[in-house]
Amino acid sequence: MNKYLVRANELMDEMVADRRHFHRFPELTNELPETTKYVRAKLEEMGYEVDEICKCGLVAIAGGKKPGKCILIRGDMDALPMPEETGLPFASENPGVMHACGHDFHMSMLLAAAKILKEHEDEIEGTVKICFQPNEETFGGAKDMIDHGVLKNPDVDAALAIHIGPMGDIGTLVFGKGPNMGSADGFDITVKGKGCHGAAPHSGISPINIGVHIYLALQELLAREVNAAEQCTLTLGTMVFGDGATNVIPEVGHMRGTMRGFNKDLTKFMKRRVEEICETTAKLFGGEASVEWLFSSPAMDCDPEFTDEVVKYAADVVGPERMIPKTVRSTGSEDFAYFGDEVPSQIFWLGGGVDDPAKRISNHNPKVLFSEEALPYGAAVYVQCAIEWLKAHK
Ligand SMILES: [Zn+2]
Ligand SMILES: [Zn+2]
Repeated sequence: MNKYLVRANELMDEMVADRRHFHRFPELTNELPETTKYVRAKLEEMGYEVDEICKCGLVAIAGGKKPGKCILIRGDMDALPMPEETGLPFASENPGVMHACGHDFHMSMLLAAAKILKEHEDEIEGTVKICFQPNEETFGGAKDMIDHGVLKNPDVDAALAIHIGPMGDIGTLVFGKGPNMGSADGFDITVKGKGCHGAAPHSGISPINIGVHIYLALQELLAREVNAAEQCTLTLGTMVFGDGATNVIPEVGHMRGTMRGFNKDLTKFMKRRVEEICETTAKLFGGEASVEWLFSSPAMDCDPEFTDEVVKYAADVVGPERMIPKTVRSTGSEDFAYFGDEVPSQIFWLGGGVDDPAKRISNHNPKVLFSEEALPYGAAVYVQCAIEWLKAHK
């Protein structure tokens, strides 16, 4: 058995305790005071110096004693704004907040990896940058860390992330090559009409009427203006008009949605057309509409050469039969894509499904369950890939 996996198995109790602590006390975005306090204390206890390079973005350095390249390993820390319905004994104690994407696993695996790396620090042929990232779910954290220099001093040559997946068998690693997860752009449309009594619609301008026409026109944008060969989606997730009255035409309303895709030029085109459609449709009915872009994350582009290398190293941990090439591009997004835009990168999807496949449901679900038996695999894959990649590039 891979020696780092043996060690990670020994750290199982600690990883489970960490994971359950994070799970009980989830926090959102880059408001992670308790989470980062816990992570920092554990890292300092291991002998690391911890640098908070941006709000709730922590970095620790392993190695650096021998010359060589620098590889970054990343775990994200934020939870989701949703109530938990798992019934687990260590379910969330923060109402309306849940680790439903498994980032509690990522922190726990990365802490164990940090511990093992410290134990092998003299063998590291270069530097491992251990990166605890805030704010993945709203696509702000990776960019924030990069803007604050996480890829500098020492300069990072490659980056690896692991994401736990509740649908896969324990210890499987799914990996893509090239662009394999979509870009994400979020928007908020403000639709302004003129409020009036519902019995006299002619005296006002209904933003609901405008909103419905905008909704339909946006569907046509996909159907009529985008090449069918492109993989691209546009979804409206929220339409809010009025306050519950039957007889009031409201003054203003909001529509919120997201676009996913793989083609940067197409995204640029779509953003321009979304704005044009909203503005001109509103004008057509005598109202006004404006689009605010809320967030943007590029498509995840996994470097083929780096992928081949880390796949070989990871196979030594989980077994080659559990390495699964990803054949379908998904329109799900990951802000680790910002790292992929800067340096050769890979994000592995680690199988962490519960035993009974019938009980497996996707992440971002209030009932989602993950198997803690996946934890040692994640920790050991981080370590094995970092140490072996640096060795191969010394
Ligand atoms: Zn998520
Ligand atoms: Zn996630």
